[in-house]
Amino acid sequence: MRNHKWKSIGSSVRLIWEMDRWLLVHTLAASVIGSALPFVAIVLSGYVLDGLREGERIEKLLIVSLSAVLGIFVLTVLKDYFKKLKTVHTDRCGKRYHTMMSMKTISMDYPLLESPQVNELRTRIQHDNDWGAGFYSLVWELPMVLDNLISTIISTLLVLPLFMKYDAFKSVFAIVLLVLFILVAALNMAFQVKKKREMYRLLDDPSLDKSYFSYYLWRGEDYHAGKDIRIYGTKALMESKLEGDLLIKKAWMRRIIANSMQSGYWRNFVAGFLQTLSYLFVVIQASKGLLSIGAVVKYAGIIYRFSQSLSDLFTALEEYSVSGNRQQSTLEYLNLKDVLAKGKLPVEKRAFCEGGDNEYEIRFQDVSFRYPGSEVYALRHINIRLHVGERLAVVGLNGSGKTTLIKLLCRLYDPTEGEILLNGINIKKYDYQEYMRIFSVVFQDFKLFSFCLGQNVAAGVDYDREYARACLEKAGLGESLEKMPSGLETYLYKDYEGDGVEISGGEAQKIALARALYKDAPFIILDEPTAALDPVAEYEIYSKFNEIVEDKTAIYISHRLSSCRFCDEIAVFDHGEIIQQGSHEQLVSDRNGKYYELWQAQAQYYVESAG
Ligand code: ADP
Repeated sequence: MRNHKWKSIGSSVRLIWEMDRWLLVHTLAASVIGSALPFVAIVLSGYVLDGLREGERIEKLLIVSLSAVLGIFVLTVLKDYFKKLKTVHTDRCGKRYHTMMSMKTISMDYPLLESPQVNELRTRIQHDNDWGAGFYSLVWELPMVLDNLISTIISTLLVLPLFMKYDAFKSVFAIVLLVLFILVAALNMAFQVKKKREMYRLLDDPSLDKSYFSYYLWRGEDYHAGKDIRIYGTKALMESKLEGDLLIKKAWMRRIIANSMQSGYWRNFVAGFLQTLSYLFVVIQASKGLLSIGAVVKYAGIIYRFSQSLSDLFTALEEYSVSGNRQQSTLEYLNLKDVLAKGKLPVEKRAFCEGGDNEYEIRFQDVSFRYPGSEVYALRHINIRLHVGERLAVVGLNGSGKTTLIKLLCRLYDPTEGEILLNGINIKKYDYQEYMRIFSVVFQDFKLFSFCLGQNVAAGVDYDREYARACLEKAGLGESLEKMPSGLETYLYKDYEGDGVEISGGEAQKIALARALYKDAPFIILDEPTAALDPVAEYEIYSKFNEIVEDKTAIYISHRLSSCRFCDEIAVFDHGEIIQQGSHEQLVSDRNGKYYELWQAQAQYYVESAG
């Protein structure tokens, strides 16, 4: 438990150090100066009083006092300066923290991203970061620890002469006093920490479903959800949820305020008690004639600061460790280890455009796959071979495993059993980034970004304008491109630019196709690439399909069997297995096969619609 506490304090400080070491330097500087300041005044008062009593020259006392006041002024200015710098760095550090979190999410292996455990961890982070207990609390609460630590050190150093000079340490009273200080500090710490833990327990109360609350809050602000909110009247549902939450919160707030008032009373009581003890000690020493008036004032002040800062240091360390504990979920997330095997083998540059012989061959060898945490196989005993330049169609009902096959091929997941080979070598042995480069995929649930059109197509900051334009034209967006207010520089959606365009589902699908073409990878995979297109656009894509995919190897997923006819090979998926494979003519001639059944069902629909 103890170790755990120091570990969480250590890891929290390390986290700040890694993100912005200047933040720590400025925090430390502000703390050192801020903690030293009160002692200047205390020591000065003692000096002046003794000086007056001992008939010191008034000029000398004035010069010392003015110098001390000037020193205090300079130190105060310096302290404020470091505090300002600290604020700037806190802001920068906060941004780095968020960037670091999102970079981790962007770069982690895909199975982690989709895993229920990691999702649960993300919810825990959100929860742990609620109520000001997040990363910022590590920054805000650190001065509390440093101030009290430095104050304790300075006061110990300053009070030492009292015990050494007057041999007072030997007196029973001094020992009793020290034990009392420590006892009171420990009691204070226990009480404050108990209150803080109670507060977090109150705030973490499961009766307030915060994930629901924040989900609706977020959804409400997302203008893309606006249509559904209006049509289905979810406003009332959202309001009722929010109001419910607010009622619970009101009751909570009362308890939380009562809680913090109790800790405030106790803190003040402890402060008063320690102050009384300090004065009592010094007064007793003075009554024995051991201390001058100046020394009484000085040591009373120092002892008081010692006891107070020692007590607050205990509390600050405990509180900081409680906050640090709430950062463990973040650290766990940042330290998540990749789960996919990553080889070093370079992928041979065999595409024609790279001067190669275009000899790529992909083979699935008895591949089976279960999603992490799932008992059910999404793919079973898949054997499939794909030669360069071939067009493979993958058909089957929803949930039959078509997209999963693509995820395995693109190494978003590794097979649970069996192997996938590229030119005879297990794909795990290839350099991951290089391997990813040979695929272009338009997923069914593809995403475009709120950057400009050209950057969306090129998936990069700088891009070849002519080539981007050619890809958009090939994907059938030529006409719409002409109408875009700033051409390739037109922003998609309105998140970044007020004059960004809201594109239709069909246009988005064409842009996603253009992005896949721009990448110019030897493999192009299209998952229902025409689902959002109108019949004319769909017809255009099919009739130009060979021109679009050129000499690339294409995998084409579709429910519409008529659109798979142009493929050399069709694989029919059912419950994770390939139940039929062959050309359209071969498959449709098997009257007992699933393909024939699906073909008939769709043909009948078209005939009926036509009639
Ligand atoms: P299709 O593309 O043919 O519609 P999928 O490959 O998307 O089918 O899904 C195959 C099966 O795997 C389905 O039963 C689906 O529910 C399941 N599945 C898909 N994605 C996940 C996931 N991330 N975690 C668990 N199961 C999943």
